[in-house]
Amino acid sequence: MTIRSLQASYRPLVDEHDVALLDLDGVVYVGADAVPGVPEVLAAAAAAGMRFGFVTNNAARTPHQVGEHLRDLGIAALDEEVITSSQAAGRMLADRLPAGSPVLIVGTAALAEEVEGAGLRAVWSATDEPAGVVQGYSPELSWAMLAEACVAIRAGAFWVATNTDSTLPSPRGPLPGNGSFVQVVARTTGAAPVVAGKPEPAMHAECVLRTGAVRPLVVGDRLDTDIEGACRAGVPSLLVLSGLAQAVDLLSAAVGQRPTFLAADLGGILVRHPGIDRSDGSARCGDWEVTLRGDSLLLVSVRDAPSPDRPEAAEPPGDDCDALRALAHLAWENEITSTVAGDQAAVAVLARLGLATGD
Ligand SMILES: [Mg+2]
Repeated sequence: MTIRSLQASYRPLVDEHDVALLDLDGVVYVGADAVPGVPEVLAAAAAAGMRFGFVTNNAARTPHQVGEHLRDLGIAALDEEVITSSQAAGRMLADRLPAGSPVLIVGTAALAEEVEGAGLRAVWSATDEPAGVVQGYSPELSWAMLAEACVAIRAGAFWVATNTDSTLPSPRGPLPGNGSFVQVVARTTGAAPVVAGKPEPAMHAECVLRTGAVRPLVVGDRLDTDIEGACRAGVPSLLVLSGLAQAVDLLSAAVGQRPTFLAADLGGILVRHPGIDRSDGSARCGDWEVTLRGDSLLLVSVRDAPSPDRPEAAEPPGDDCDALRALAHLAWENEITSTVAGDQAAVAVLARLGLATGD
């Protein structure tokens, strides 16, 4: 089995990739508000020549509505740079069905707009004999809409789900996402949908088609959608810790859900990424070294002791992400996730990362 390892980048990522495909919630914004510093990071990356795709699995809003949200946050986004799972779903339906075919909408007017834009006819009842059914998240979703979908699918309609995220992030915690309602229809009909959104390849293909990316970098906060989607498409990815995934999730990530790069937030696209030095069963990154102790990963700081010649060594060891990079390397190699601190500096960094600090 291949161990996917975090990689070094000796130039800033912004200089290595022409287009960043950015997940939105947890990367660009959290709920209504921008992740701190992100508008400035995007402006700096744009000045360096990078282009963007603003990519969302959420099918409830039109690209224009998403673009307005981004512009309200101070981000110079164009509507054409927004890529939604509705667009990918519309393309899948149009590839499969003759132009003008009726498609039952289980979702919002925004979803219906994409279906019409793909040359199909949006309908809202199974009595219109739809050739396809498209199901996406809607806060107005009703039992009646799900019932129409079940009738149409049993009659043989081609069923596309925009995405299968079971939850939707909210300021009140996770709430039911489209995937939960897809399960209702699947259990009722015994059918399974074709899925458009991340991590399915259709979504990445839509992103590349719309941006013309040659060397894309996928940036996301979820291992099971953003990072898995990048792995399946064979493109590099940056995991940011500003959203859902936390340090503990990274250490236990399955092989197909391991990112190429790691950063605290989107600022990670503007910088170089350090490599990991391996020797004698240890992994070292920056000021941190990890070794195995029993069934645990032992973290110690390896910055030289301060001396009159090296007063800077009295500073606390740097970058928490360096510690996490070294931990992830040995965690993935040995399938171990429990952590132990070897010194006071390690206690502090493990606590900040939300990891266990002792036996
Ligand atoms: Mg996200």
